[in-house]
Amino acid sequence: MRGHKRKHILVTGGAGFLGSHLCERLLNAGHEVICVDNFFTGDRDNILAISGHPRFEFIRHDITLPIYLEVDEIYNLACPASPIHYQLDPVQTTKTSVHGAINMLGLAKRTGAKIFQASTSEVYGDPAMHPQQESYWGNVNPIGPRACYDEGKRCAETLFFDYNRQHKTRIRVARIFNTYGPRMHPNDGRVVSNFIVQALRGEPITLFGEGQQTRSFCYVDDLIEGFVKLMDAPDDVTGPINLGNPVEFTIQQLAELVIELTGAGSILVHKPLPQDDPRQRKPDITLAQQHLNWQPTIPLREGLGKTIAYFEGLLQRGEL
Ligand code: NAD
Ligand code: UDP
Ligand code: UDP
Repeated sequence: MRGHKRKHILVTGGAGFLGSHLCERLLNAGHEVICVDNFFTGDRDNILAISGHPRFEFIRHDITLPIYLEVDEIYNLACPASPIHYQLDPVQTTKTSVHGAINMLGLAKRTGAKIFQASTSEVYGDPAMHPQQESYWGNVNPIGPRACYDEGKRCAETLFFDYNRQHKTRIRVARIFNTYGPRMHPNDGRVVSNFIVQALRGEPITLFGEGQQTRSFCYVDDLIEGFVKLMDAPDDVTGPINLGNPVEFTIQQLAELVIELTGAGSILVHKPLPQDDPRQRKPDITLAQQHLNWQPTIPLREGLGKTIAYFEGLLQRGEL
C-alpha cells in the first residue's frame, strides 16, 4: 500500500460488541488484524463477515494466560462488560482485567508495541462529581458485587501507568461511557437493547423509576473513531481520557424515541428503580476534544435507527 504503513495489530476481545467493530475499522484502514477472544461473551457471528478476510486472523485464547505474538499495536478490550455477564464468574472477571493486563503489557514491553486499554466510566464508581472529569479519583466500593469489574479495571489502569513509568511502555487509556449499536448483546439488561427488543416484540417497555434519570449514549462508530485517534495521538497523550457522548437524554425520552422509530404499539410500564441507580451520567470530553480533536457526530435518532435494523435482522432470523 503506497504512502501507508501497514501495521500488525492485536485486538483482544475482538469477537465482542466493540472489538468486532474495531477489527473491521482496522482492516478497512489496510492493517493486519489478529483477534484474540475466548468467546466468553463474544460470538462467532460478530466476526463472520471478516473471518475470510486475507488480513484477518482469529486465535481462540484466554488472555489470563501468556501469549507470544509479534505486533505493532495492541487494543486490550477483553473483559465482560455488563453486570449480568461480569458477575457470572467474578473471580475470572478480576483475573481477566488484572492478569490479562499484565500479559498484554508484558507482550507490549517485549515487542515495543503501543498498547490501548479499554477502561470504563465505572472507575468513577458512584461519583460525587458531575460531569466526571479524568482528574476525579472516583468512589468505588472495593468489596461489593460490582467490585470485580470496577476494581479490576482500576488495577489495570494502575498497571498501565506503572509499565509506562517503569518500562517506558507506550500506553493509551480510554475511559468509555455507555455505548450502543449493532452487535450489542440482546440479553444483558442494558437499557438500549432492552427497549428495542421489547418494542420489536410488542411487549411493554420497562421504565425503572420515573424514567427521569439521564444517560448519554455514544454510537459505536463514533467511539471506535475515538479509539483510533487516541492510539494515533502523540506518546505524551497517555490518557486516561473520557470517550463518550455528552448529550443527555432522560430514560423516558429514550423509550419514546424507540417506540417512534420502531412504530411499535408498546406501552410504558414503571418498575422499581434499582438500588444505587445514578440520577445522571455524562462524560466531560474536554480532554478528548483538545488532545484528539474528537467528539461524537452521530445523533441518537440516527444511531438508534441502525441498531433497530440490526435487532430486526436477528428477530427475522429467529435469533432473538
Ligand atoms: P463484550 O462482552 O461484547 O466484549 C468483550 C469480549 O472479550 C468478548 O468477546 C469476550 O468473549 C472477550 N473476553 C472476555 N474475557 C476474556 C478473556 N479472559 N480472554 C479473552 N477474551 C475474553 O463487551 P464490549 O461492550 O464490547 O466491551 C469491550 C471492552 O470495552 C470491555 O473491556 C469493556 O469493559 C469496555 N467498555 C465497554 C463499554 C460499553 O458501553 N460497551 C463501556 C465501558 C467499557
Ligand atoms: N508475556 C506474554 N507475552 C509476551 C511477553 C510476556 O504473555 O510476549 C507475559 C509473561 O508471561 C509475563 C507477563 O506477560 O507473565 C509480564 O511480562 P513482564 O516481562 O512484564 O514480566 P516478567 O516476565 O518479568 O514476569
Ligand atoms: N433502565 C430502565 N429500563 C430497563 C433497563 C434500564 O429504565 O429495562 C434504566 C436504568 O435504571 C438506568 C438506565 O436505564 O437508569 C441505564 O441503565 P443501563 O443498565 O443500560 O446502564 P447504566 O445504569 O450502567 O448506565
